[in-house]
Amino acid sequence: MKIILLGPPGAGKGTIAKVLNQLDGSVQISTGDILRAAVAEGTELGKQAEATMKAGDLVTDELIMGIMEERLKQDDCKAGFLLDGFPRTIPQAEALKILLEKMDEKLDCALELVIARDVIIDRLTTRRTCTQCGEIFNVKSKPPKVDGICDACDGNIIQRDDETEEAINNRLAVYLKQTAPLVHFYRAEGLLVSVQGSNSEQVLEALKTRIN
Ligand code: ADP
Repeated sequence: MKIILLGPPGAGKGTIAKVLNQLDGSVQISTGDILRAAVAEGTELGKQAEATMKAGDLVTDELIMGIMEERLKQDDCKAGFLLDGFPRTIPQAEALKILLEKMDEKLDCALELVIARDVIIDRLTTRRTCTQCGEIFNVKSKPPKVDGICDACDGNIIQRDDETEEAINNRLAVYLKQTAPLVHFYRAEGLLVSVQGSNSEQVLEALKTRIN
């Protein structure tokens, strides 16, 4: 599968990517995870992205395209990839199209997860993330066995800096303005598949019609 996951923050893109990854070994590529790792390591890239991310704004298209060009050329992408959090702007989508053409690759579809705003806000304010492996927990629906400690890797679980109410509102506004237009872009490309909610059964059902 070569899929783009579209949807607002908190729509469940990461969760769906993990389900799909287990089906056929397609690698999940999350630009948010790549950037957070760079911030944690204090690399040059991390330093450039840190303040922007904290406010919930988007880092520049140039920076993201540099990361993705390098990432998509790695061998593990040959089995398929699930792009989570990329592209986020029309220029990124256009640059990705050119990049894939150059690589002689084709997308199967752009999968849009459609979800109500109040559900998103509730999910994001209760979400917690492992700083080490990126595993997602939720204080209401999926608390860790031991408070503050990741079930999977014993890493520390935190509330992300950009998951305060203020940053979340900003991320949603940024999504509506800069990322939502991608739905029209991929519809025009004939690649859009929209699913209400983020139930994995329903997602798989919708994808079956596109991928064999
Ligand atoms: P979300 O949970 O909002 O989907 P991500 O984990 O995908 O967020 O990304 C976190 C932050 O990283 C974003 O708010 C943004 O600052 C930056 N980022 C991630 N992907 C991109 C991208 N494709 N273009 C620009 N900025 C990005």
